[in-house]
Amino acid sequence: MEEYIIGIDLGGTNIKGAIFNSKFQTIKETSVLTEASIGPDHVLNRMKRMIEDLLCQAEISINSIYCMGMGIPGLLDPHKGISIFSPNFPGWENIHIVDTMEEYFGFPVFIDNDVRVNLYGEWTFGAGLGYKDIVLITLGTGLGSGIVSDGKVVFGKTYSAGEIGHMNMYRNGRPCRCGSSGCLGRYVSALGMTNTFKEKLEEGRTSIIEKWINNNLDEIEANMISKAYDLGDPLAVEV
Ligand SMILES: [Zn+2]
Repeated sequence: MEEYIIGIDLGGTNIKGAIFNSKFQTIKETSVLTEASIGPDHVLNRMKRMIEDLLCQAEISINSIYCMGMGIPGLLDPHKGISIFSPNFPGWENIHIVDTMEEYFGFPVFIDNDVRVNLYGEWTFGAGLGYKDIVLITLGTGLGSGIVSDGKVVFGKTYSAGEIGHMNMYRNGRPCRCGSSGCLGRYVSALGMTNTFKEKLEEGRTSIIEKWINNNLDEIEANMISKAYDLGDPLAVEV
């Protein structure tokens, strides 16, 4: 019997899932809204339902699933299978993800931080193939990194190695959901750039973006800054 693997990417906006065959070819993929604000039980239930839907659509029996790997944002203990804390997920503290999923589905489940999961992908199939020392930087809504040193993934004593997004840059800087302020990720990220752009417009600077947002600064999105940059907008270039 052919065996399959499930991969899950838990994001702040969407939960993405895919079934792969043993050669890591994608059989079926899907995504649903995370609805993180409703709380961890709701998110876990949405994941369960999504996985059941995936299996159903792919016409694959649960008995032919070899294992499932999940990328989870925030601080976690991959050995105990517990998500310890996730700044963008309200109530997400000490959530036993692996136990919950293994009890429900019966196949082995593994979790790790979403950035390290990204790192494993690049190390195994992508830009890091064949290297023993790698730093992967993820620049999205937030900022993170994953590290391979001398052929070993670096976790750190508290599993927070590579959390460059929370490196303190400015003592009295922008407040961060981690409880600190002036974290690098509050500046170098999609969210950070958007905030910097708003601040500059509030200071009286001008940009082509103003024509796209009807004078409502809350409508500024990171992709607009990218578009304005491509058009040579001086403020976008500076930001
Ligand atoms: Zn922070």
